[in-house]
Amino acid sequence: MMNTPFLSAQGAAILVSRHGLSRCIRGLHDAIAHDFKRWEQFEKSARLATHSAEGVIEIMPISDGQTYGFKYVNGHPNNHRHELPTVMAFGVLASVQTGLPQFISELTLITALRTAATSVLAASHLAKPGARSMALIGNGAQSEFQAVAFHEALGIDRFYLYDTDLFATERLTHHLNELGFHVTRCKSVAQAVARADVITTATAAKTRAHVLTRDMLRPGVHINAIGGDCPGKTELHPDVLGNARVFVEYEPQTRIEGDIQQMPSDFPVIQLWEVLTGFALGRTHADQITVFDSVGFALEDFSALRYMHELAEEKGELEYLSLIPHMSNPKNLYGLISKAECA
Ligand code: NAD
Repeated sequence: MMNTPFLSAQGAAILVSRHGLSRCIRGLHDAIAHDFKRWEQFEKSARLATHSAEGVIEIMPISDGQTYGFKYVNGHPNNHRHELPTVMAFGVLASVQTGLPQFISELTLITALRTAATSVLAASHLAKPGARSMALIGNGAQSEFQAVAFHEALGIDRFYLYDTDLFATERLTHHLNELGFHVTRCKSVAQAVARADVITTATAAKTRAHVLTRDMLRPGVHINAIGGDCPGKTELHPDVLGNARVFVEYEPQTRIEGDIQQMPSDFPVIQLWEVLTGFALGRTHADQITVFDSVGFALEDFSALRYMHELAEEKGELEYLSLIPHMSNPKNLYGLISKAECA
């Protein structure tokens, strides 16, 4: 049998714990930035989504001509009732030349890290210089990673928290206090965002929500909107978008899934790669409201899989799966059965 390198959920957690969460997010940030800057080398498509009343299951493919990658990911906001996370994922890298899988990995934990890394990649170009405070609206699985990433990359040291679930905010407060961050628990979204330089919305509800409205926002705030990522699932009121400079990952996908699904099809947006390569300007004045309408794009997972593969190999955390049969005569697939019978 041929052995495919595999990083398990436990292996990934050990790797992140030993290498350090901040260091891993930094490494992912650099890998994602590198790949966004070679945007035109990738064969890209919007992800393939299968919707149900409870959630969505998606396949996210991408290729740079040498390596093909995909992620399987779901989004089921009521999964806590089944003691399951809202988002679960795994991914694969394969050789374009032969199709042979080269790496298979858990991506539930790593999606949270890569999302935080992508959020700070955008915010470091779009937030006002000197931003120090952040509102976190939605205090679920993604939230600690957002806080750690923004603290490390932008120097954010004050966090305003709000969630409709008090226990979620309690858990996040406890973890952020352990990290020595300054935390304020708020009674409403409006209170949480009132003094924030940066806002992350990471709510999960399969509904056309307007968690943020225009009247709540200070001039110059940067909004990192990660929870509106599916048709019929939004977080921002259209007036927020209409009064902001809006940035997206891959425009064809975000028009379907992002908060801009509420806007006309010619509503102007700028793709993140254009800012990173100098084709487009990011923030153009201090009082401007900027929005990163993030839905999560396949390129980020491709970069994350490559980074985690290298790190796991270097740190000896790879396991091996017998996924693809080895045949001395590749045309004799049938022979595998008789060989198994003799074994
Ligand atoms: P989660 O279910 O663990 O947490 C979501 C939290 O939002 C819950 O605690 C819930 O109580 C809270 N919430 C729901 N409605 C709210 C409201 N109106 N106001 C305040 N809080 C509210 O989910 P998660 O894994 O943290 O993911 C959060 C969101 O981010 C999901 O929508 C998910 O699909 C999305 N996501 C996006 C990306 C991306 O790349 N853009 C990546 C991962 C997850």
